[in-house]
Amino acid sequence: MRRLLKAQALIFFGPPGAGKGTQAQAVSVAFGIPHISTGEMLREAVRLGTPLGLAAKERMESGELVSDEIVSGIAAERLARPDCQTGFILDGFPRTIGQADFLERLLREQGRGAPLVIYIHVESWVLLKRLSGRRTCPICGRIYNMYFDPPKVDEVCDIDGAALVTRADDKEVAIRQRLDAYEVLTRPLLDYYRVRHQLWEVDGDRAPAEVARDVIELVSRELATSA
Ligand code: AMP
Repeated sequence: MRRLLKAQALIFFGPPGAGKGTQAQAVSVAFGIPHISTGEMLREAVRLGTPLGLAAKERMESGELVSDEIVSGIAAERLARPDCQTGFILDGFPRTIGQADFLERLLREQGRGAPLVIYIHVESWVLLKRLSGRRTCPICGRIYNMYFDPPKVDEVCDIDGAALVTRADDKEVAIRQRLDAYEVLTRPLLDYYRVRHQLWEVDGDRAPAEVARDVIELVSRELATSA
């Protein structure tokens, strides 16, 4: 396992369906630092039926963003945990200028260097297919894509024969809402980070392992030169 040379924040940025979660996971394994997904934390709260989950559920299912206050609160709590001391990866946070300002303050208070921002770029027609084609097995958790990686039998898991399910926010109306929220509220962060820090762009329209190889190489190189 490689080591981060600085306790740095890595931000994985990009539209829904770009593969941020997959790439963040690969980098987390390669460098031994936590992968923090606000979407995953919110889904867990919804599953457990906590007050936070109840507050977020409706907006998530319709594809809208959850309030900055809620999301910044859970992010701050997570980043204060000891496993973040040696660096961490953010996936799906920040998503608005308000959240980005909040994070800048937090990183300053924690005495961390400038974040490394990696933008995973994917054309919108590919995103639509990735999101609308995504199916999950409710038993084993395997993820398929009806266009790019279909099961042998339509809508049925190859491993255990269970009927595949579609995430509530992968239904068509919610997908459009999520992509709109990205365009209006999140895309402006590209300029926000270009002005303040270095922003690296990676072509995300390739096999996940190929993208991961580039991302890991980039992170290694940047951390070595900024040490
Ligand atoms: P994700 O798994 O990152 O696509 O997130 C799933 C959903 O969780 C989003 O569509 C939002 O409703 C909510 N969510 C996750 N992260 C954020 C965030 N940083 N700001 C606002 N809402 C968020």
